[in-house]
Amino acid sequence: MYVDRGWGNINLAPWQIFTDKHHVREVVRDYAIQCSFEFLVERANKKVYTVACLDTGCGWRLHASRLPDGTTRTIKKIDNPKHNCRALKTHNSLVNIKWAATKLMDDIRANNDISGRTLNELLESRFEVSLKTSILYKMRTLALKEINGGHDESYGYLPGYAEMVKQTNQGSVAICAWEAEYSIEKPLTFTRIFISFEATISGLVNGCRGLIGVDGAHLKGQYGGTLLSAIALDGNNQLFLIAWAIVSSEDQET
Ligand SMILES: [Zn+2]
Repeated sequence: MYVDRGWGNINLAPWQIFTDKHHVREVVRDYAIQCSFEFLVERANKKVYTVACLDTGCGWRLHASRLPDGTTRTIKKIDNPKHNCRALKTHNSLVNIKWAATKLMDDIRANNDISGRTLNELLESRFEVSLKTSILYKMRTLALKEINGGHDESYGYLPGYAEMVKQTNQGSVAICAWEAEYSIEKPLTFTRIFISFEATISGLVNGCRGLIGVDGAHLKGQYGGTLLSAIALDGNNQLFLIAWAIVSSEDQET
């Protein structure tokens, strides 16, 4: 017999209304995860959505269909709403990377560096489920790509950014370098960028001590590279950033 041991806030009932087909599918999935059972999709098209408990001896079956307005959906029928099956003791296959991403997107947006362990703790406390930490890290990468756009897309903005700095910030230095690659798919490859704003240059000339340090930090992510920072000391011996650059590696040439 099905045991209600889940988060407890999702209920399904006949004639319940959903805003569209995605809404009904999302709620039914959450309900199944909450109640620890898996289902088989019998029919899913523009008009109807019918699912049945994966345990063939159970008899739980839900049928939803489109209302005359063409968008909203309603549950027409739920057979055996109490279930005859046992609640799953093993991993529920409905708990997958895509589902976790929708549930944890706001947490990842608030903290881009959130650890896989913390993400799992959130899943456990909110939904009483867990995933492998390695899967959660993969999910975080995909979620960040959706939130921030991919690194390749971001690097693509750099030439325009350098031009904008030069045009709108007279006296600043902005250099973005590219190497031509002889292939149609990859006509240009980013090699380095150097940015120094006019305000920091005049701050260096007028208010800093005669000492400049350069330090590098390795960049994580698909493309790697090194972020170089040129730092001076101001009159109060505080660090004063003069310029930054992204280069392929920290060597004599760069
Ligand atoms: Zn069942």
